[in-house]
Formats: sequence, C-alpha cells, structure tokens
Amino acid sequence: MPRSAPTTRKSDLSEPVIIVGGGFSGAMLAARLAEGGRASVLIDRTGDFGPGVAYSTPFAGHLLNVRAGRMSAIEGRPDDFVDWLKAHAPDHADPQGFAPRTLYGRYVRDRLAGVETVHPGLIRRVAGEVAAVTEDGVRLTDGEAIKGAVVVLATGNPPPRTAGRDDRVLADPWAPGALDRIGDADDILIIGSGLTMVDVVQALDARGWRGRVSTLSLRGLLPRTHGAPPDVHADLPETATAGPLSRRLKAARTLARDAGWRAVMDGYRPITARLWVEATTTQRARLMHHLRPWWDVHRHRIAPEMGRMLDRLSAEDRLTLKAGRLESVEAGDGKPLARWRPWRQAAAEPLTADWIIDCTGPGHDAAAHPLTGPLIAQGRARLDPLGLGLDLDADGRVLDAQGRADGRLWTLGPPARAAYWETIAVPDIRKRIEAMAAIID
Ligand SMILES: Cc1cc2nc3c(=O)[nH]c(=O)nc-3n(C[C@H](O)[C@H](O)[C@H](O)COP(=O)(O)OP(=O)(O)OC[C@H]3O[C@@H](n4cnc5c(N)ncnc54)[C@H](O)[C@@H]3O)c2cc1C
Repeated sequence: MPRSAPTTRKSDLSEPVIIVGGGFSGAMLAARLAEGGRASVLIDRTGDFGPGVAYSTPFAGHLLNVRAGRMSAIEGRPDDFVDWLKAHAPDHADPQGFAPRTLYGRYVRDRLAGVETVHPGLIRRVAGEVAAVTEDGVRLTDGEAIKGAVVVLATGNPPPRTAGRDDRVLADPWAPGALDRIGDADDILIIGSGLTMVDVVQALDARGWRGRVSTLSLRGLLPRTHGAPPDVHADLPETATAGPLSRRLKAARTLARDAGWRAVMDGYRPITARLWVEATTTQRARLMHHLRPWWDVHRHRIAPEMGRMLDRLSAEDRLTLKAGRLESVEAGDGKPLARWRPWRQAAAEPLTADWIIDCTGPGHDAAAHPLTGPLIAQGRARLDPLGLGLDLDADGRVLDAQGRADGRLWTLGPPARAAYWETIAVPDIRKRIEAMAAIID
C-alpha cells in the first residue's frame, strides 16, 4: 500500500473543528484549540464532557495507574494536575501517589469549563450520537447535520468483543450497573487479565464480595506494579533503539539487569511512538506477535495498592490465573460453561462459574466500526497493513484508499493506535493534542 505525501488542504478557519467524542482526548483538544482562538464543536453521546470512560467511574477505590505528577492534562505544564489537587483534594496531592480516577474526571471537567470561561463561544457542546462522518462534517442519529472544516475522531476504545451469549456472560463490564447482579459469594471467570480485570475485581472486593475468580488470558500474565518512587528513566543505548529487534531486546535485557526493568520500560516510554512510526510493517508484526503480552504487563502497570489486593486474593486461594485460549461459551446447567484450550495443549477443557465477565478489552475492528467502517467502504479511509486500525500519516491524518491525506479527517487517542501504538494514556495523548493543535490551528 503506497503512502504519498500529505496533500493537506489549509483548513477553513471560519468553520469549526468537529470533535467526535468528549472524553479526555476530545475535551482537552477542544480546550487547546480554544486557547489558540479556534472554534470547535464537541460532541458526546453521554452529554458529559471531559471524564470519558476512564474517569467516570463512581468507585473511589479505582485509582489512576499513572502517578499524579505525570497526569497533567497540558503539555508543558507538568504540575497542573497536582496544583489542582492541592486546591481541591489536598489529601491526594502527592505527585508520587495514585489519585482516585473520579478526582481526575473532576479535574478534566474543571479545565474544560475554565477555558470556556476565558474563551467564551469557542466551544459548542453537543449531547448527541454521531451516526456518520459526511463529506462536510458529521450527521447525528437524530438527523442533524453539523458542518466543519475538519473532523477529529476521538471516540476512544470501541466496545469489547462479546465472549458469548448467555444471560450470565457480562459482555461489557463498563456498562452502568454491570456488576450489580453478582452475588457476594458467586464465583467468576474473567476473560482477560489486564487492567480491566483489575478494575472489576477491585470493585467487587471493595463491595465485600467473597467469591473466587479465575482469569483466562493467552499467557496468564498479570500487570506488574509500579515500584517505590521516584521513577527512574534509563538512558537507552542505540543498540536498544535501532537495528534488528532481537539485538534491541538483548540490549534492553542487559540494561535491565543493572538499571532495573521499570527504568528500561520508562526509558522507552517517551520514544515508543517514534520507534513505532519508524518501524517497518514486518517489525511491527513481529513485535505484536512475540513481544506484546510481555510489553503490555510491564508497560501498563498498576498502583501498588492494586497489586497488594491481587496478592491477598491469591494468598486466600481466591485468584487463579489460567493461560490459554477461550474456545466457546455455552449455556451450561444453570451456569455458563466456557471451553478453553490451555497454552500449547490441543484438547479443550471445560470451566464453569456463576458469571463470565469479558475483560478482553476493546474490539478495535475499524472495518466493523459504525463510523469508520463506511469510510473504509467509501475509500475515504483504509486499514493499516496489520489491521490494527485506520491507516494514518505521521501526524495523525487519515489516509484514503490510495494512501493520500487531505487533512480533513483526523484521529486522536485510542483510534490512532495504528500510527503510534502507544496513544492511550494521558502523557501520550496530551503530546498529540499539542502537535495537532499546532497543525489544525
Ligand atoms: C479503566 C481505565 C483506566 C485508565 N486509567 C488511566 C490512567 O490512570 N492514566 C492514564 O494516563 N490513562 C488511563 N487510561 C487510558 C485512558 O483511555 C486515557 O487516559 C483517556 O481517558 C482516553 O480518553 P479518550 O477521550 O480518548 O477516550 P474515552 O474516554 O473512551 O472517550 C471517548 C468518548 O467518545 C464518545 N463517543 C464515542 N463514539 C461516539 C459517537 N459515535 N458519538 C458521540 N460520542 C461518541 C464516548 O461517549 C466517550 O465519552 C485508562 C483507561 C481505562 C479504560
């Protein structure tokens, strides 16, 4: 698939930027654009602007998985979140701590409202569902057409894939009240063992649930915990950032023996997107195939409090990790029945629980997504060579079927993952917002 140089049209400054999705990414882009004097229309189906999925949780026990000192919403103003905490929730103002996610949601809402006060009339909030991206803007499900010079898809992660069909299979653990039907002594099978699994178990544990949980994931790995502060970033030698992947891995492992694996992972963090952009399709495919499970658990770490909770459940014999692949889910004898194939084993085994919860994470099938699927079918967008998502240029513009970008369609946050890979956490997204605001301005 050839990539040609972007043929960006200078965006019409008299028309607003349309931002689909008012979570952290969309809301903070709108704020940044307004600070530059650019008008936007910020659309979210929830009618709540700022917190998005991650920071809308009602549970005070759901903590950020990044230290407060790194969670500023604004590139170049590293203390912004901690300063906000000092003013609004001083008990959580430790820059090395992991503040509740609900507080972060309030912070983002406050930042958006603050910018709206200083730059009135530049952000139009629309509570509605975008049904389609049109040639000159978007169309909402109620038929309203909104015109704009540029459309930015900041729609977050697509909903999880459904593990199976049964009343006791919870396909979307984020749906309001999803966990309410689980009894305090019920046993649970969780498909997936990443951050969503940790959230679900934490919410149940905080409620006094006493059952047992098995998790099923391909490798049976758990997210690692953050270490004691301060975080140290190792200086990576060139052998760890360039050349054959096997040599990079060897260099990283050698360095980890001296500097510690967390320092090595944190050394990669600021340059991950660049390394991904520079990588060939073959290198990307190898990384996804061989390294990804290990990368994910070391890179996306959890607060030590969460790690201690998992350790306690293990010590109480209430948490079991299973490594293998889910084959099917059927309605069992009053309980759902999962068939799974243990890692490197040919025969499937049965597993029952009172509830099965799908924590496998987002579907990421851009071709099946209601907004991007039609764009691909019309040739206005295409999948990246690995099928990770929409194919983008290095700045985040969507490439059409011929590999051209006219600069009218952009993605921000998780939908941009094919271009940058790591574009899901605040420190990555705020950098992208800054870069996009400079181009779209
Ligand atoms: C449980 C959880 C915890 C996390 N914790 C952290 C953390 O501690 N630190 C960190 O840095 N990152 C964390 N993250 C990563 C997090 O995804 C990002 O920090 C950030 O919140 C992503 O925001 P977003 O706006 O891109 O996506 P989202 O928050 O998903 O927002 C997307 C918005 O788009 C709206 N939308 C989607 N489609 C449409 C449509 N068709 N029409 C209208 N509206 C639409 C949705 O309603 C939603 O509000 C966490 C993620 C999760 C899921």
